[in-house]
Amino acid sequence: MLYKDTTIAALIKSGDIKVGDTVQTSQDVSCSWHLGNKILEIGVLSGDSTYKIHLTNGTKETDCNCTPAQLAHCDITVNGNSSKSLTPNRMADLKEKFALIFTSEPKKSFRKAGITDGDNLLTDDGKSVFLAWLLDKLGDDFKKEVCEELLKKEEKE
Ligand SMILES: [Zn+2]
Repeated sequence: MLYKDTTIAALIKSGDIKVGDTVQTSQDVSCSWHLGNKILEIGVLSGDSTYKIHLTNGTKETDCNCTPAQLAHCDITVNGNSSKSLTPNRMADLKEKFALIFTSEPKKSFRKAGITDGDNLLTDDGKSVFLAWLLDKLGDDFKKEVCEELLKKEEKE
């Protein structure tokens, strides 16, 4: 499966890269991902954005502790051969479900809808949706206090 313009961390988060998969990037990023690596183990380092990936390049085993920034955006090929065992992603799902039991409304609904993530921070999509809603709510004030001022300045220039 080919994923365009994404990162390894993003594909792990979405569950598209699992233990047992062979992953190859279209360009030379750190840890020789462009040569192809088989994922042996995935551990979470901090939050849910950084992963410690135990991998093998066919001859030797090593760890990738790269940050999402180091694993630059590129096209990524994933050859799935994943086992049906409890992968870190499934465990993360379980943790997420468990956490939801103890989360009260309205946070619970935000999480379920994908507006916020496990740390109760707005997701990228959540930000867009929330800001659009805010603009709709406060549109008249925003137009008067910001938009019209900007347009005035533009006219002067
Ligand atoms: Zn690395």
